[in-house]
Amino acid sequence: MPAKHAENLVIIGSGPAAWTAAIYAARANLAPLVFEGEAVGIDIPGGQLMLTTDIENFPGFPEPVSGPELMDRMKAQAVRYGARVVSELVVEADLSARPFRVTPSYSAPVRAQTVVIATGAKAKWIGLPNELRLAQTGGGVSACAVCDGALPAYRHKVLAVVGGGDTAMEESLYLTKFASEVLIIHRRDSFRASKAMSGRVLTHPKIRVLWNTQVTDVLGDTEITGVRLRDTVTGAQSDLSVGGLFVAIGHEPNTGFLKGQLELTPHGYIVVCPARTATAIPGVFAAGDVIDDYYRQAITSAGTGCMAALEAERYLAHHGIGESPVLETAETIQPLVDALDA
Ligand code: NAP
Repeated sequence: MPAKHAENLVIIGSGPAAWTAAIYAARANLAPLVFEGEAVGIDIPGGQLMLTTDIENFPGFPEPVSGPELMDRMKAQAVRYGARVVSELVVEADLSARPFRVTPSYSAPVRAQTVVIATGAKAKWIGLPNELRLAQTGGGVSACAVCDGALPAYRHKVLAVVGGGDTAMEESLYLTKFASEVLIIHRRDSFRASKAMSGRVLTHPKIRVLWNTQVTDVLGDTEITGVRLRDTVTGAQSDLSVGGLFVAIGHEPNTGFLKGQLELTPHGYIVVCPARTATAIPGVFAAGDVIDDYYRQAITSAGTGCMAALEAERYLAHHGIGESPVLETAETIQPLVDALDA
């Protein structure tokens, strides 16, 4: 493996997975280079937590911590131990030859012995101006009930959930623990969700479904007061008072820059070895929400970020770069990679 003019480890992303990988790799003296992205439209470095206000379920924070503060602190911790940060997006990655080639938006391409992809996933939004503004300011609009639903602001209120898939079902059921009533607003007259999940929702005494209904505006200045609705059959408009809006219309993993070089699941998430972060390309690891459409939590992302850094460290050690106490682990990855192709 040529070591000259190549970074040991390039980490792509700036959410909990990326910063945790950076902390571990930096402490292992790998001097990782992190491409944290840049602000483009509504996308800002830091990932989905930049749209989260109080986080109450990240261990180690008995008092709530804001999403942006948590990301700042993780980044500062990574930098303190030697991670280097470039505030640019990665627009292309060539994983077909070694060292890998990572191309950012403006600077020259960078060579890398190993790469950790931690680019996350975007929650889809309806696209209404007031929706995103209130989501960003903690005004009662969220794309994650498990993250935000238990916050005091949502308790004992009528909460609306938009969507008709399994996520909308799951979020609605979760919100019944806190809400006085949960209203599912769905644009068609049947759910896309599984029969089992739909059944639980339709028989739940606290959940009501508004079929054939679209949200056309989110009402409220600093906090949501309601939503404007349109009947998709009759076109009739109405306003509905709600104390919170949870948008559950799907997620989109950020894998566009890979241009088909890694195997993806049918929903577009990067395929990794079971219980590992190794992809089918040795030396390329993936972590966080870009591999996970199931848990989608800051703490699980941080966990897989840690795994990716340890796997990269062991891979590098196995190829004569740096030191790793568990060298044999790198060798055990290949049979797992082979199993992916089987
Ligand atoms: P999904 O299955 O794609 O459902 C998205 C829902 O949002 C659909 O009902 C869709 O309406 C609606 N929608 C999309 N764009 C919209 C818009 N602009 N305005 C209003 N409504 C809109 O996404 P998901 O629910 O996140 O699920 C993704 C995958 O993960 C699925 O395969 C799901 O089964 C899986 N999942 C599984 C579980 C579980 O097993 N526990 C939990 C969560 C997710 P239409 O129906 O009209 O298209």
